[in-house]
Amino acid sequence: MTDGHSHKTNFIKNIIDQDLKTGKHQSIVTRFPPEPNGYLHIGHAKSICLNFGLAKEYAGTCYLRFDDTNPCTESTEFMESIQRDVKWLGFDWGKNLTFASDYFEALYQIAERLIQEGKAYVCSLSPEHVREYRGTLTEPGKPSPGRNRSMEENLDLFRRMRAGEFEEGRYTLRAKIDMNSPNLNLRDPTLYRIRKAHHHRTGDAWCIYPMYDYTHALNDAMEGITHSLCTLEFQDHRPLYDWFVEQAKMTHRPRQIEFSRLNLNYTLTSKRKLKQLVEEQHVKGWDDPRMPTICGMRRRGYTPSSLRNLAEMVGISKQDSIIDVRVLEEALRSDLNENAPRRMAVLNPLKVKIQNVDADFLEWIHSPNHPQKPEWGKRELAFTQELWIEQEDFALHPSADFFRLAPGKRVRLMNAYVIECLEVIEEAGKVSEVHCRYLPETLGGKPCEDGQKVKGVIHWLSAKTAQRAEVRLYDRLFLVENPGAVEDLGEILNPHSLLIVEAYIEAALKEAKSEDYFQFNRLGYFSADQYDHSTEYPVFNRSVSLRDVSKV
Ligand code: ATP
Ligand code: MG
Repeated sequence: MTDGHSHKTNFIKNIIDQDLKTGKHQSIVTRFPPEPNGYLHIGHAKSICLNFGLAKEYAGTCYLRFDDTNPCTESTEFMESIQRDVKWLGFDWGKNLTFASDYFEALYQIAERLIQEGKAYVCSLSPEHVREYRGTLTEPGKPSPGRNRSMEENLDLFRRMRAGEFEEGRYTLRAKIDMNSPNLNLRDPTLYRIRKAHHHRTGDAWCIYPMYDYTHALNDAMEGITHSLCTLEFQDHRPLYDWFVEQAKMTHRPRQIEFSRLNLNYTLTSKRKLKQLVEEQHVKGWDDPRMPTICGMRRRGYTPSSLRNLAEMVGISKQDSIIDVRVLEEALRSDLNENAPRRMAVLNPLKVKIQNVDADFLEWIHSPNHPQKPEWGKRELAFTQELWIEQEDFALHPSADFFRLAPGKRVRLMNAYVIECLEVIEEAGKVSEVHCRYLPETLGGKPCEDGQKVKGVIHWLSAKTAQRAEVRLYDRLFLVENPGAVEDLGEILNPHSLLIVEAYIEAALKEAKSEDYFQFNRLGYFSADQYDHSTEYPVFNRSVSLRDVSKV
């Protein structure tokens, strides 16, 4: 499984198989229906993979339909970002890009018909009163005074609502269902409200806008959606969904099926809270690499296939669960372990001077681009008198289990020579330089002539050819497992979620383009920043650390 389309089965596929077998449907039609009021996050990725993935697997159709029914919170910026994200994830809606606003006139006509049939009425209760009249799970609702209005009066009022005669909040249109229903969703839900707002697609053509439940059910029916897949919180809305389709006498009857949302620990999957993070400037924007938005994860260095694989791995069920964020990180690692070329970088440099070569000495060391893929070839690393190694790979007073560089000790430079520490230069109580000799017989993994065993292998760079780069290291954004439960996000932020270091990278990385990814040996997987990276000023994001950072 590398493309996220395994043939692992689930209860939705079982339903589809059945529907195709019995001839209920000849082919399937699904949809992904985002509201363009924010950026998509990892939870949406699950829904995208499910809906577009099923259409692909069953050679059906999947619509990308914008649920643009609330002009106050929606914008073109969000709409464009959503399309970019769906495409980047690897899905194609072809000609099937639609908008709830495409159907405003049709939805309005259906509402008039419902009024004429006595199934909808104009209500003048304030939002507070509507709530109060609705009752609770234990108390029945009270009928709105509007319930008894004549059909003629309702129709007249509704038409005048459309014509813009009334202020916002003055009236709503409500379905006449059952104020005593045990299901609160059926206690005369709102169909239309007045919003004197400019809509990013219909401009000022409308000042009444349909509600989500009404719009969504009817749009599904109009587009011939066979399986309308949504998250579990809509389970109690299903009777309403069916009521709308039935009362509107739609010839096509879509079937709503609920599945459990994707929840990840240490991660927010609420658009409202992600917006709060952006607006309160806890992060640098929707695409900050610490954000669980699709564009943030892209910038962090997540690959589309790693996200598709995650969706496949967590599967589809009705069981609510919280996935460990490490499963997500592991999905990225297993993709990049396979597909990322290897390079060297040094994040906290310590100078090593090789005493048994001259200042102008230079030898090219052939280093494989991938240890398991000889067909990927090699690149050249310069071995010169002055080198950089990681500060933490040297210890002045090593413990017994420290196998890297220390006074009098030997270590192997990855793919190159064994070096031995002869002298330590200190400045102001700090190690500033380490003088070593290299053992010429040890190139390419060969042993030391004197039979001494060398356990440690460290990464390194030539100080002569290495170049400077900005490297951004990330940690979890939140200190707590369930940030969704906390209202004041400022209180639970990890102050060390971003660490910027001035690092050295190998010369071969000069060719890296934005979004190219690499494993920096022993340091993790990194990708060149989508926006800030350039040849003159390389910028790399650490996408994910290696499983075990101390392992080569
Ligand atoms: P809201 O409606 O509160 O703005 P939302 O996250 O539901 O937020 P939508 O744009 O309505 O946003 O979502 C589009 C689709 O993505 C819906 O079908 C929704 O069920 C699905 N979705 C949202 N969050 C998740 C999640 N965490 N896991 C799986 N699917 C999700
Ligand atoms: Mg929603």
